[in-house]
Amino acid sequence: MSLLANLSDLLSAYIASSIQPFGGVDPHVDWRDAFLMLLSPLFFAVVVAEWLRMRGEKRQGKRVYDWRDSLDSMVLGGVYTWVDVVLVLVFVLPAMNWLYAHHRLASIELTPLSFAALYLGVEFCYYWFHRASHRIRWFWCAHVVHHGSEHMNFTAAMRQSWLYSFAGNWLFYLPMVWIGFEPKAVLLALSFNLAYQFFVHTQWVGKLHPLIELVFNTPSHHRAHHGRNERYIDKNYGGTLIVFDRLFGTFVEETEAVDYGLVRQVHTHNPLWLTLHEWVAMFRDVMRPGPLGLRLKHIWAPPEWERPGTQAADNRAHASESAPRPHDPAHP
Ligand SMILES: [Zn+2]
Ligand SMILES: [Zn+2]
Repeated sequence: MSLLANLSDLLSAYIASSIQPFGGVDPHVDWRDAFLMLLSPLFFAVVVAEWLRMRGEKRQGKRVYDWRDSLDSMVLGGVYTWVDVVLVLVFVLPAMNWLYAHHRLASIELTPLSFAALYLGVEFCYYWFHRASHRIRWFWCAHVVHHGSEHMNFTAAMRQSWLYSFAGNWLFYLPMVWIGFEPKAVLLALSFNLAYQFFVHTQWVGKLHPLIELVFNTPSHHRAHHGRNERYIDKNYGGTLIVFDRLFGTFVEETEAVDYGLVRQVHTHNPLWLTLHEWVAMFRDVMRPGPLGLRLKHIWAPPEWERPGTQAADNRAHASESAPRPHDPAHP
C-alpha cells in the first residue's frame, strides 16, 4: 500500500502543481493521460534517438522516417492528450466513480500484489478492447487512426483518435472497477500499460530473447500487428503481454516483411479527416437505403462486412482491413 500510495500522492501533487498555471483542474486528476503527459519528455528523447539512428534507413524500399507522417502522428497525439483529458474528466471518471461508489463487489486495497493482479486484469481488458476495436466497426472508427501510418517508428505510437472516449474504450475497464479497484488505480495501471506500448513501435530492434517473445508484446509482435499483409491482419492484440493472443488464437509470428498501413489507405494529412473518415464512411453506410436491421448492422459488424446484394459494389471506399487490397494482383 505505502509504496503505491506514496507514488500516487507524489504524482498527484506533481500533476496538480504542473497544471495549476493552466487553470488547475485538480483534484480529480485523469491519471491515464496525466501519467503519459509526464512521460512525454522521455518519449520525445527516445524519438530523437531513433530518428538519429534510423533517419537514413529504408525497409522494403520505404523510409523508416517520413517527417510529414511523423508530424501527422504528433499532431494527432498532442491534441488527443488534451481532448481526452477533458472527456475523461467530464464523463469517464464520473461514470467510473459512480460505479465504484454504488455497485462495487468489494473494496480491494492496493498492495504490490493486488496492483500486479490489477495490471494483469487491465491487460486482459485491453486485449478485448483491442480485439473489439478491430472486429466491431463502431470501435474500429476510432482505432483506425492508430493504424493510419505506412511507416513504423516511435512516432506511430502517438497516433491516437481524439474520439476514443466517445467511442467507449473505457467501457472495457469497468469490470475492474466493478470488482473493487479504485478508478484512479485502474487508470494508472492502464497508463503504465500504454506507456509500455510506446516502446514496441519501432524497427530499431529485431527479435528479443525467445522467452521474452513468448510472454511479452515485443516490437516484433507489434510490427506484425500493424501489417496489412494478409497474414498479419487482426492479430497480436496484446498490450504488455502476448499470452492472451496465444491463448485465444490471435497470435502470429513476424516472419515475412511487414507492409505497414491500412488495406484501404487514407491519403491525407488533415488531422480532422484522419480522425473522422471512418465515422463518416460508417454513417454513409448506415444511411444507404435498405432494411433497418441491415443498415444498423454496419455499426456492430466487422469493418469489412458488406450488405448482401447488389449494393455491396458501392461500399468499396471505406478503409476496412480484411477486404481485398486494390493493388493486390490476386484481387484486381
Ligand atoms: Zn490495432
Ligand atoms: Zn500500435
